[in-house]
Amino acid sequence: MKLTFIGAGSAFANHNENYNSNLLLESPKNSEKLLVDCGCDARHALLDLGYTYKDISAVYISHLHFDHVGGLEWLGLTTKFDPSCQRPRLFIHEKVADIIWDTTLRGSMACLEEEEATLETYFDLKSSNSSFLWNDVKFNMVKMIHVYNKDKPQPCYGLEFSFGSKNIFFTGDTRFDLDRLLPYYNKADIIFQDTETLPFKSSVHCHYSEIVALPKSIKKKMWLYHYNAGQLPDCKKDGFRGYVQRRQVFDLEKKETYL
Ligand SMILES: [Zn+2]
Ligand SMILES: [Zn+2]
Repeated sequence: MKLTFIGAGSAFANHNENYNSNLLLESPKNSEKLLVDCGCDARHALLDLGYTYKDISAVYISHLHFDHVGGLEWLGLTTKFDPSCQRPRLFIHEKVADIIWDTTLRGSMACLEEEEATLETYFDLKSSNSSFLWNDVKFNMVKMIHVYNKDKPQPCYGLEFSFGSKNIFFTGDTRFDLDRLLPYYNKADIIFQDTETLPFKSSVHCHYSEIVALPKSIKKKMWLYHYNAGQLPDCKKDGFRGYVQRRQVFDLEKKETYL
């Protein structure tokens, strides 16, 4: 399986520096592509790699911030009005599925002339409260604590999956909640870690100053993404694998590309 970061930046990344942290998985079986998060930059980031909406037959949405869901309207509308396309499968945790239409998409997507559209007008909805299967790979949705609305955490789910002998943990957006993260850190062979590199902590992402204190054995498995524009600490010197670069490809069948 090929894993490509179409962008590796924070929500407020801009094109010249980076795009939003969304990634593309390509199945070795049939080259089918699963887009993991579809932020507002996704159509440009995909085009940079030579892809269009026609290449995206499945999408996973981790949570409802614009850098993760802001491109879903584009994907839904372009595939809906192109008769050569089928509805993309939408993999999503049921807690996110419960609110995505009314809070995020309905304003513009409901209006379809004669018809009042629903989420399923555009997407083949595959919601679950735990996991989903895509091309024989089981993806476990891992609950993260990212942002609160007053005292209620808003639903946000990273992904954990195994491919061959490797276990991969993609944190998604998360604050530094070590009790929740540690079992996945320990199990994983490769960790893609949400990393904030601002000079101050927003507290809704893992800040570099928090993850740099992790044990060496964990840091050496970590690739950092969702980082901010500007000066970055020397993460290799601090024991991490590196910063994921926009367009960086991880071939999960070839261990030397990421170890
Ligand atoms: Zn984000
Ligand atoms: Zn977020």
